[in-house]
Amino acid sequence: MDNQKTSQLTTGARPGWLWQAGSADRDWPDDADHENGNYQNKCLGCGEYFIGHKRRCFCRKCSDASKARWESLTPEQRAEEQRKADAELTAWLSSQNIGNEPRR
Ligand SMILES: [Zn+2]
Repeated sequence: MDNQKTSQLTTGARPGWLWQAGSADRDWPDDADHENGNYQNKCLGCGEYFIGHKRRCFCRKCSDASKARWESLTPEQRAEEQRKADAELTAWLSSQNIGNEPRR
């Protein structure tokens, strides 16, 4: 028996049709083995395309950067960041972003 793989994607490989994708260091190769792990997503952080699980919103680069930044913060700074994020979310939810068409 030949151990021949047909057109299967190998983990971490970037197929040629993926012309839109940014760079491989943005991908999540560990996701490739999951059922929905080979989706092409657009990162909310940098706007570049990457390959990963379909529920991922950020590429690996942005995720690593924010993780490193978070780890460098003191507990007080982290609490402050959390407060800011909560305030932003509250402001966004109560703003005209929801339910209103822009008027002219
Ligand atoms: Zn990104």
